[in-house]
Amino acid sequence: MFITAYELYCQVVVARHSLVMELLKRHARISIVHKETGIPKQLLRKTYRELHGRSPSPGALKYSTQGLTRNLKKYKEVTLFAACFQTAESKNQENDIRKVITVFDSYKMFCSGSQLDFSGAWVVARDLRTKQIEAVKCPHCGASVLIKAREDVSERCCVCKTCV
Ligand SMILES: [Zn+2]
Repeated sequence: MFITAYELYCQVVVARHSLVMELLKRHARISIVHKETGIPKQLLRKTYRELHGRSPSPGALKYSTQGLTRNLKKYKEVTLFAACFQTAESKNQENDIRKVITVFDSYKMFCSGSQLDFSGAWVVARDLRTKQIEAVKCPHCGASVLIKAREDVSERCCVCKTCV
């Protein structure tokens, strides 16, 4: 069976469109959706309005993990997501936005009270991949510790306070 170039093109367009919808459904920042799909921002804003009945939030994205860990509760939430994402990465190294979606969805299922949103999760995943931050195990109690993820804080385990 042959696939014509046009059919292939259509498949790519459909796949990209469904990815856009998956991201917008999770309220991903327009700048992230644009980066991941290459679709013009103006069109993405329009689609977001159609989907949610309001404009996407205009504020700037916090573009670093450090911006997401301003208090201990947030730091713990980010650490948990990072540990989940790192486990997924260890099984499949493929750099794919869909992995962020999958891990984020399961994270939200067992951690529904977490304030970490999809855009935050995307930033954490990116920083893990580029080794800006790292999820390690506490040598004393085995809990996950996220290092280099906070400003001016010594790297200690949240559970047993051991320095890592
Ligand atoms: Zn510990």
